[in-house]
Amino acid sequence: MITGIVSKYKDEYHVDWQKSLIEAIRDPLLLLRLLDLDEDEYKQKLNLSDQFKLLVPLSYVKKMTKGDWNDPLLRQVLPIIDEQKIVAGYMSDPVGDLNAEISSGVLSKYQGRVLFITTGVCAVHCRYCFRRHFPYGDSLVSQKNWQNTIDEISADKTIHEVILSGGDPLMLSDERLQGMCEALAQIPHIKTLRFHSRIPLFLPERVNSTFLLWASALPINKVMVIHANHSNELDEVVGQCLDALKIAGFTLLNQSVLLKGVNDNAVALTELSYRLFDFKVLPYYLHQLDRVQGAAHFAVKRDRAIALLETLKEQLPGYLVPKLVEEISGKRSKQAIV
Ligand code: SF4
Repeated sequence: MITGIVSKYKDEYHVDWQKSLIEAIRDPLLLLRLLDLDEDEYKQKLNLSDQFKLLVPLSYVKKMTKGDWNDPLLRQVLPIIDEQKIVAGYMSDPVGDLNAEISSGVLSKYQGRVLFITTGVCAVHCRYCFRRHFPYGDSLVSQKNWQNTIDEISADKTIHEVILSGGDPLMLSDERLQGMCEALAQIPHIKTLRFHSRIPLFLPERVNSTFLLWASALPINKVMVIHANHSNELDEVVGQCLDALKIAGFTLLNQSVLLKGVNDNAVALTELSYRLFDFKVLPYYLHQLDRVQGAAHFAVKRDRAIALLETLKEQLPGYLVPKLVEEISGKRSKQAIV
């Protein structure tokens, strides 16, 4: 089966993902032009000075509606002036990542699981990202100390799941990612590898035949959590990528962030759940925004979030209703809101 899907990929996914990344849009003014948005009118609304600059692949831009400043995909990636507002309660490390670091790039927050910060690189810069200020230079699972990291995990039999995060773990080369995954899969008490990645949505060509072949051979449970926030992100090409991941043995889950102006209405959220299900992905979390500096304009009030979830419960089968949760720094699990 996997051989079949791989040869299909050879035909259809001859795109070099690194070339796609080089061609990604990094200039907000160019993005305005590509979307037929008037430069003179909108330039003053842009945040051109931020360190966390625009980055978005062209294939994602093509899913945006031309001429629509409020396009829900555009809002997720375009740096706007609101990001410069200082808002009380918003901070650089809202979920306490730095306090949870037990060794370089290894975070321990929850029982039985550790999270690896594998890279600081992504295929996209999401404006609401809770790690947008994260000091990646100081906190990565390093190649130099890799054997120490493996030894520590091998010695701790309470750990049964390793979460590969970042940045985006699929931005690593196949050589590096395969080596990491194979070493972890050989530890008897590690039962599951979980990837958190937006790559299937933004750069599906990265999920190429090389990746699929080695990943399908890993003798371990594999989970891919994609982070879709809107049904427009899930086109047929993304669907083929998800299909291939499924055939390669991944359990597919989605977690979304509730974002003002992107998906803070019942129609958008029900469409997202149904679209995910079309591609055999189950929605499991709907997150309240992490209070990261620069993202306050995305916040949805708590009572509105609760009301939205109640509507979803009325309109969707239970298996398509995500849990509404928030992450509170220092807590040993995600906190259910309702
Ligand atoms: S892909 Fe993930 S880590 Fe990267 S910017 Fe987006 S939310 Fe943050």
